[in-house]
Amino acid sequence: MSVKKIAVIAGDGIGKEVMPEGLRVMEAVADKFGIGLQFDHFDFSSWDYFEKHGQMLPDNWKDQLGGHDAIYFGAVGWPEKIPDHVSLWGSLLQFRREFDQYVNLRPARLMPGIIAPVVRRDGTARQPGEIDMVIVRENTEGEYSSIGGRMFAGTEREIVLQETVMTRTGVDRVLKFAFELAQSRPKKHLTSATKSNGIAITMPFWDERVLEMSKYYPDVKVDKFHIDILTAHFVQRPDFFDVVVGSNLFGDILSDLGPACTGTIAIAPSANLNPERKFPSLFEPVHGSAPDIAGKGIANPIGQIWSGAMMLDFLGFKAAHDVILKALEQALIPDNGAPRTPDLGGNATTQDLGRAIAKHVELV
Ligand code: ATP
Ligand code: MG
Repeated sequence: MSVKKIAVIAGDGIGKEVMPEGLRVMEAVADKFGIGLQFDHFDFSSWDYFEKHGQMLPDNWKDQLGGHDAIYFGAVGWPEKIPDHVSLWGSLLQFRREFDQYVNLRPARLMPGIIAPVVRRDGTARQPGEIDMVIVRENTEGEYSSIGGRMFAGTEREIVLQETVMTRTGVDRVLKFAFELAQSRPKKHLTSATKSNGIAITMPFWDERVLEMSKYYPDVKVDKFHIDILTAHFVQRPDFFDVVVGSNLFGDILSDLGPACTGTIAIAPSANLNPERKFPSLFEPVHGSAPDIAGKGIANPIGQIWSGAMMLDFLGFKAAHDVILKALEQALIPDNGAPRTPDLGGNATTQDLGRAIAKHVELV
């Protein structure tokens, strides 16, 4: 049996509480399918590490993590002790950049037992499965460049500039990923987020590349919306969407809005992918370290567990992914009597819910 090496970084706050549940469920599914997983734990990328070493990561972090098949990440950030931009830029954003994780992937699926804050046009509640989309965000270039500056600072003539950088390689590679993803899904529908009516240089280029790429995927239905109306459509008819691809900024906005339309951020997963597998990809829940509830043992572990399912899928274990998703659904159906954490309206602990999901993994 070949063994996949997983680097485990629990990080800060509730990261430390939800990670053991993620690992518990992964071990259950690995047992079920005879998958070999080796978990290597790292204590860096956390406030504790920073306190001891004065930096978020050891100098040789790239060597330490580089040999792994994937990174399973909890949460980073302890704003009481260290500003978020220091902890984030000192760790997670380094991983994304140095490991060329140019695809940020976030599924947004309405699960059973969760009330979507967006209702149908007739006012009735949306049903599980009715919202089922994946946001693909370009993760390395675009609007988040550091090219620019301020001139005549502090004067009436002050000018501030920040450039958007799009490269053909950078745009094409994320579009290719999105098209292939769309092609692999039943609806085969790809929506591109644009703003070529207002942003008249980079966005027409983006549109052009979408059109060009679409020629290679004739079976994928493609449409494009300007980002402003697209956000409105997310709220009013989220059931319309399947795969949605956007530049770094537009993808960032949509990848928060999508999961928000499906209820609670506590259950939303994400992946930062290097699709060529030259470097390890990173899988983490959408939520952060949640200092307000950290240490109480009541955080919902589903975002962490679902991210683990995405990791297994990426590593080639699609059946294991599907079993975890089934188990999550089973655990969330209120009639099944599974424990619910406070964010889901119950009073169960992180461990209670984690154990219940692991049990469902054995049963489904
Ligand atoms: P970021 O990491 O982007 O800085 P943040 O620190 O602003 O995010 P989170 O840590 O995600 O935000 O927390 C936002 C809110 O959601 C908090 O009130 C937190 O308690 C709640 N929350 C986040 N994750 C969970 C979870 N897994 N279970 C229950 N509640 C959660
Ligand atoms: Mg935070």
